[in-house]
Amino acid sequence: MEINKPKKRLQRRIPVTSLSQILSGEKSCEYSLWFNSRYTCESNVKNLYSGYSPSDGKDKDPTSAHSKLVKNTAEFIKYYNKTILKERQFWYETGSGLFIIGRPDLITITYHDELRIYECKSKGESPSDKKQAALYSHYLPFVFNGYKKANGFVVYEDRTEVLFSNDLDDTLEELKSVIKMLDSNKQPKKIKYDLECESCKLNYNDCQEKSKAIPA
Ligand code: SF4
Repeated sequence: MEINKPKKRLQRRIPVTSLSQILSGEKSCEYSLWFNSRYTCESNVKNLYSGYSPSDGKDKDPTSAHSKLVKNTAEFIKYYNKTILKERQFWYETGSGLFIIGRPDLITITYHDELRIYECKSKGESPSDKKQAALYSHYLPFVFNGYKKANGFVVYEDRTEVLFSNDLDDTLEELKSVIKMLDSNKQPKKIKYDLECESCKLNYNDCQEKSKAIPA
């Protein structure tokens, strides 16, 4: 049974996590991304405006494996960082008025004045991990004035991977067409894929393809 009718956002927004899933091929339906950047089923007026929500994407369970990994990583790196910010949300507005929103697990500034981001993954490796860290590395220097770049790291339970310049370059190249698609008023194609449709926020009224993938 359908309940919430989507409302048009006053300002378009897109989370870094969703962008990284499309860029990595973990998700393939551009329509879902496009629609969610423009509409919301949430009644919170702040979400209608900039998409800002203090709890968006925050790990609220201090006992979760993810929270523990973030805590342990912060503890491990504290000796060479003068600033460590945990799960601090940022947003960046593109020239076309699209809000990019993210919440890196750790943003740090080393004693050598290097801006860093650490993204912690406790559920194993996904193709979007490096894309996500690359997007944070790209957008954070716009937020932290005075820093030309941010170095990115992906932390797993058993290792830490460093982001190289080609990870960043490849991601930014692929990002251009996705931002162009999001900025366009032309609706992109719906790509029906059972698992993806199942977790998609669009309801049966918003997307007729959903009923073909998952009969109501
Ligand atoms: S329900 Fe499926 S086809 Fe429709 S927008 Fe979502 S992912 Fe795309």
